[in-house]
Amino acid sequence: MTTSSGKDKAALSSHPDKVPEEERPTAEIRFKSVQEAYEILYDDQKREIYDRHGMSAFNGSGDPGMGGAGPDLDDILAQMFGGMGGMGGMPGMDPFGGMGGMPGGPGAGPRKSRNEEQDYELSLVDLYKGKTVKFASVKNVICSLCNGKGGKEKAKAKKCSTCDGVGYQEVIRNMGQFLTKATQPCTTCNGRGSFFSDKDKCKKCKGKRTVESKKMLELYIPPGSKEGDKIVLEGEADQVPDQEPGDIVFRLVQEEHPVFERAGADLRAEIDVTLAEALTGFSRVVLKHLDERGIEITHPAGKVLESGQVLKVAGEGMPIKRSDARGDLYLIVNVKFPDEKWKPSPAVLEKLNEILPKPDAPIEAVIVDEVEYDPKGNMQEFGSKDTQDGSAWEDEEDEEPAQCTAQ
Ligand SMILES: [Zn+2]
Ligand SMILES: [Zn+2]
Repeated sequence: MTTSSGKDKAALSSHPDKVPEEERPTAEIRFKSVQEAYEILYDDQKREIYDRHGMSAFNGSGDPGMGGAGPDLDDILAQMFGGMGGMGGMPGMDPFGGMGGMPGGPGAGPRKSRNEEQDYELSLVDLYKGKTVKFASVKNVICSLCNGKGGKEKAKAKKCSTCDGVGYQEVIRNMGQFLTKATQPCTTCNGRGSFFSDKDKCKKCKGKRTVESKKMLELYIPPGSKEGDKIVLEGEADQVPDQEPGDIVFRLVQEEHPVFERAGADLRAEIDVTLAEALTGFSRVVLKHLDERGIEITHPAGKVLESGQVLKVAGEGMPIKRSDARGDLYLIVNVKFPDEKWKPSPAVLEKLNEILPKPDAPIEAVIVDEVEYDPKGNMQEFGSKDTQDGSAWEDEEDEEPAQCTAQ
């Protein structure tokens, strides 16, 4: 193992004698913590306590169960070994390689195996109502026959001669222009420091220490959950011997809904209202909610509705998790005018004209031109004519006499 250089460096930079006087009290605490970190690292019993209960079990005295906070061992280790964090980042590990799931040396594995994260896509309806999903998960579990030992009951693992039992090998790497020394888990014993000979291997797991197992898992998504929420199935990730199993973490992703749009706990939807309804009022179901309920609106006669007007329905938005409260529903009115299929008789039109409000006072002008127009103008053409272009001007000149003769 190449821990000594790391230890010396960390201990040295923290040693009270090496820092300015005003920083000494802090440095003393730190120096003690670094020593303590090493004690824990190299004492199997203490390591096990740390793995189970974390740094709070030690608290400066080196004895478990004292209470009170001290510098975190993880932090100290992270600083010593370049921010790998946790026991997972083994001292002396190749700084260029991946850290995550690498096995630690004998008795020095990460205290928790890797979490498994994945997206879980679901509809707005499911998020509104909440949902329980059952699924089968295949994961590695500690072999029940050998209890994760990997060998037969009475068999003793043989010390690995490749790494001399430490679980690590030093390798020289060519990093472009210079050579660097790095350590990596021993390939012969997979970083264990020892292994069982073929005849001593556990019959069930064949020495691998874990076996695949199928388990039914249940995922509960409470009503009101939203995109980005994480549902954690604690300890359901692959089991790794000597480690606490990690979690399966689902990150919720919401599918788009054809009618509703969500912002926080609020919902918005467009509703179509006919011109007659907009003018005369109505009472009907305007929308089917996410739980299939019809939402009925009664709009009084004589209160004209405009396109784009917003009807806010309090308490009809999304449920808010762990409460009885709900967001609001915003209904955006879209007034549907009659289309070309509407063929009213002249008498009806005259009647309408008579009934509906008249235009404001006429606009007075000295010269009045009656113009032609395209009833289907396209605003995408707006601004596309080059005003510097002389020919456009000439065309207009040409057209004008033609227009006069036609009249
Ligand atoms: Zn086994
Ligand atoms: Zn080995």
